Amino acid sequence: MIVTLRSNADVERAREALVDRGLWVERFESGGDGPVQFLVRAGSRKVEPDELRSLEQVASVSTRPSPHPRLDRHGPLVEVGGVVIGIGADPVLVAGPCSVESRQGIFDSAAHLSRLGVRFLRGGAYKPRTSPYSFQGHGAPALRWMREAADAYGMRVVTEAIGVEQVAPVAEVADLLQIGSRNMHHPPLLRAAAETGKPILLKRGMAATVEEWLLAAEYCLCHGAPAVIFCERGLRGFDRFTRHLLDLGSVALLAHVYRLPVIADPSHAAGRRDLIIPLGHAALAAGAAGLIVETHADPGRALSDGPQALRPDRIRELMSCPTRTSAA
Ligand code: PEP
Ligand code: MN
Repeated sequence: MIVTLRSNADVERAREALVDRGLWVERFESGGDGPVQFLVRAGSRKVEPDELRSLEQVASVSTRPSPHPRLDRHGPLVEVGGVVIGIGADPVLVAGPCSVESRQGIFDSAAHLSRLGVRFLRGGAYKPRTSPYSFQGHGAPALRWMREAADAYGMRVVTEAIGVEQVAPVAEVADLLQIGSRNMHHPPLLRAAAETGKPILLKRGMAATVEEWLLAAEYCLCHGAPAVIFCERGLRGFDRFTRHLLDLGSVALLAHVYRLPVIADPSHAAGRRDLIIPLGHAALAAGAAGLIVETHADPGRALSDGPQALRPDRIRELMSCPTRTSAA
């Protein structure tokens, strides 16, 4: 936003009035001797242009069209299968195995997790594996097992579509349709997922900027998704001690500045189970509306991502987060 002052305005008083309203302003050097202008920088509190136009010192306010107008109107809360997720709501936990390995396995996970108060069951039927030789998921049967297990224990299903052709079968069983990190930059998939009318869990690309992430959400909203929940899952870094770098700055930015529902995935970020609980708590403290974590009853035998799987009995610790900031 650019605020142009009247020619006779007291520049310092005008600056004070803007700063008092929570704006970060920078004097705009236009080079000539035209009117004084202030640029309102990113990170400022959201203020309606009309409020500034009504100030005595201000001649006009111009706004650049937003690149994501639909996302700008997105609320801080989203309802998924009767559960409200977002700013001010109780933190949600989505838990379950990396991949749905067997009918019995997913029933056991649902039984154990629901007893611990977890209401969202995760699990991949189609796995976007880095290597073509790794387990690729059981596909359609796994979707069916997952839905049956969730229904048996009163849970909601979160599962991923890795290609346009999987969108319809996934949408049939998912309460929240997941787009994975490797696919955030895949507009035809975003569009197909959005057209199902399901809310979308949009994982951040591992090398995506916040702007690209927001625009991927705009794709979903502009093609009919009723809502988007963002998921920060770690960025590609240079250090091998953790699998990725969990970007808590972006979690805080989305929650506190944009006031959007964002959850965090400490499992894929850390890549190791000993860091999941502290990272999960840190994400909640930064404003995350919830966590998605991988669990497995016998991590050593998991068909995918065993090293980062928590045993379900650790879930209680994850849920008793000592510090949670509200994005008020
Ligand atoms: C997953 O959640 O199953 C997954 C593959 O995560 P990501 O897309 O973040 O790598
Ligand atoms: Mn995984």
